[in-house]
Amino acid sequence: MHDAALLRRFRGRCSPGKTKWPGHAPARVACVRETSELQTVDPNSALHKVAVQHLDELNTALWVFDIDHSKVTWANKAALSVWNADSLAELASRDMSTDMSVSVAQRLKQYQEDFIASDAAFTEVWTIYPQNVPTTLDVAYKGFRFDDGRMGMLCEARAQRTDTPEGLRSSEALLHTSVMISLYDAGGTPLYRNPAARALQPERGLQLKDRFVNESDHDKLISQVDLHGGCRQSARIQTSKGIRWHEITARECTDAVTGKSALLLSETDITDLKEAEHRARYLADHDTLTGLPNRNYVQSKIPKKLEVAGSIGEKLAFLIIDLDRFKAINDALGHAAGDELLIQVATRLPAITGDAGMVARLGGDEFLICLQDVRSREQIDAFCEKLVEEFRTRFTVDGREFVSTLSIGVSQFPEDGEDLHTLLKYADVALYEAKEDGRNTHCCFNISLRNKIEEQLTLERDLRAALEQEQFELFYQPRVDTFTNQILGGEALLRWNHPTRGLLAPGCFIEAAEQIGLIIEIGDWVLTQAAIEQHALEREGFPITVSVNISPKQFESSTLFTSVLSLADRTGCNPKRIELEITETTLMSSDSSIIETLSTFKERGFGIAIDDFGTGYSNLAYIQHYPVTSLKIDRSFIANVGTNHAVMKLIMSLCRLLKVKPVAEGVETEEQLAWLQQHGCREFQGFLYSPAVHRNQFRDLLKRQHEKAPSEAMHYPMFSTG
Ligand code: C2E
Ligand code: MG
Ligand code: MG
Repeated sequence: MHDAALLRRFRGRCSPGKTKWPGHAPARVACVRETSELQTVDPNSALHKVAVQHLDELNTALWVFDIDHSKVTWANKAALSVWNADSLAELASRDMSTDMSVSVAQRLKQYQEDFIASDAAFTEVWTIYPQNVPTTLDVAYKGFRFDDGRMGMLCEARAQRTDTPEGLRSSEALLHTSVMISLYDAGGTPLYRNPAARALQPERGLQLKDRFVNESDHDKLISQVDLHGGCRQSARIQTSKGIRWHEITARECTDAVTGKSALLLSETDITDLKEAEHRARYLADHDTLTGLPNRNYVQSKIPKKLEVAGSIGEKLAFLIIDLDRFKAINDALGHAAGDELLIQVATRLPAITGDAGMVARLGGDEFLICLQDVRSREQIDAFCEKLVEEFRTRFTVDGREFVSTLSIGVSQFPEDGEDLHTLLKYADVALYEAKEDGRNTHCCFNISLRNKIEEQLTLERDLRAALEQEQFELFYQPRVDTFTNQILGGEALLRWNHPTRGLLAPGCFIEAAEQIGLIIEIGDWVLTQAAIEQHALEREGFPITVSVNISPKQFESSTLFTSVLSLADRTGCNPKRIELEITETTLMSSDSSIIETLSTFKERGFGIAIDDFGTGYSNLAYIQHYPVTSLKIDRSFIANVGTNHAVMKLIMSLCRLLKVKPVAEGVETEEQLAWLQQHGCREFQGFLYSPAVHRNQFRDLLKRQHEKAPSEAMHYPMFSTG
């Protein structure tokens, strides 16, 4: 019988999925038994022998593969030759799993499932490696049910292919790759799927369009291919593992079989990447403690919202909400309780707001509500009052009940500003006003607040100009010996020759300069000028100490250190006659490196004074940890020496103990001076002797003193370094 005819008969009888062949029993006997014509035939009969002979005579290799055990259980003669096996027993004893790659094993499992699920049949180019010799075959295979019910595979190898090595390798790659490759005709009907693509198809023959979760993604892909001949896009796809994100590369091509135009897709699963991206975006945009949108979210989303609102004439209100005395609650109940309170607030605020707006946490105990579709100021007031009212309801944290009130600052779009930065800034200014107003209330940004800000902005602008146009000047206030009235030194105090407002004292501008960071440049200028002055005075015969105020901001900057260390080289000053005045705030807010910085300055000869001592909240004993040479006692203590001198006495004894020189500030009366003399304070500053004066006047004071007592003037004491 002709091979093809015999095979047709054979297949007709042993239809895959239904045929029962024995697992490990001699398969050819079973095969014969299962064919309807031979079922009744005695295995030892001539007919049976003929049938077996026919199968063996076929040029087509046929074998049965037990997927579960990775073994061939039956093979005809052609198959034995393909597998380079001496006998069926030898072939059946081979464990195919030893050389099998993971991808092939997975694919076989997938085929097994496909055979179980449907009447599947595939043809693929396979390269097998009998005795390590690569042999490439066209293999058609179908499901095959063993006696014990398990699903195996009936393989039929067609003519051995004689492809080029490139051809062989490319078809192997197509078979093994995890990239899903599929070919569709122009109507979207699948023509070919490689194993990876087939493994994920939820149902056979699914049209391209039906694979997309969103039809628009399919339409977009097709239109891009129409326009550009190909495209790359990611889309959500229906697969046998559920909905997955695929990155799809599509190319127009021609089907090699029909010659008609077709679409070649290669797809990779990027679900994990998408999920990671989504998670990262969520984390970047949301506050981890409360789950509310965070400042980042506000900054990225609100500008667009403003644009849309502006285009349709919608009005918005921005409410910055700050919990009153949250710090005290946090300190009293602990951080965990503070966090718990914030979580409860983050639940309460959206509950009150509902659909009226969006709630975000800006940081710390500061929240933002963006109210949309605002129709009137009354509506805003009513909403704020409702918020304040609702926060009268107690919170329960850690079994303890308490009330946490809030203050609200409001700015309106577009009235107060058209960009987010301005709106938040103005809401913040209004919040500050609400706090000043006694808290537990709200304040809307208004004209007088706007004027205040404008003044501030003008001041900032003028300050920058002042530095460029050299409008700053240093005045000097004498530091005087309490007993001899000799000038021991001078404190450099900044003045601003304002072009319209006249001579300004630092109280009018230092804070603004601090806020905009300009104090660093200004402070450096002061330091340099004061050092130049010290050098000049010394050369003129006045070897006195010049003290310079250093702001906390300057200490935070990286430039101060090098600026101080290079001061002598730059100006010719004598570091032993320069004293740096720092505040308690500087000591308190800086990290531990300040001790090293101050020690280095002291080693170089500079004096270190604590300015306005007693106004900070530091405890007296901490001073001993710092290399301090003088304590400048704040004038508020001096003003009270007549009535309450207990603290002054304490400070004086502390100075003695720590070997630090006390300097009294703001001495205005003879009584105060007498008290200082009595209690051993050797140095003072104050209007009693002289206010801060222009450098020329300061020289005049020195000269006059020099003329009065020339011999003493030669012995100005340098400050002691303890
Ligand atoms: P300060 O360093 O404590 O300077 C002493 C201030 O007290 C000076 O005010 C001085 O004029 C004033 N004063 C002196 N004696 C008396 C007195 O008997 N009675 C009264 N009521 N006041 C007296 P000024 O010059 O207005 O400076 C104020 C503050 O500005 C300074 O306080 C200092 O903290 C800061 N400052 C001044 N110049 C600079 C500077 O160049 N850099 C930095 N960072 N701050 C400076
Ligand atoms: Mg000072
Ligand atoms: Mg002071």
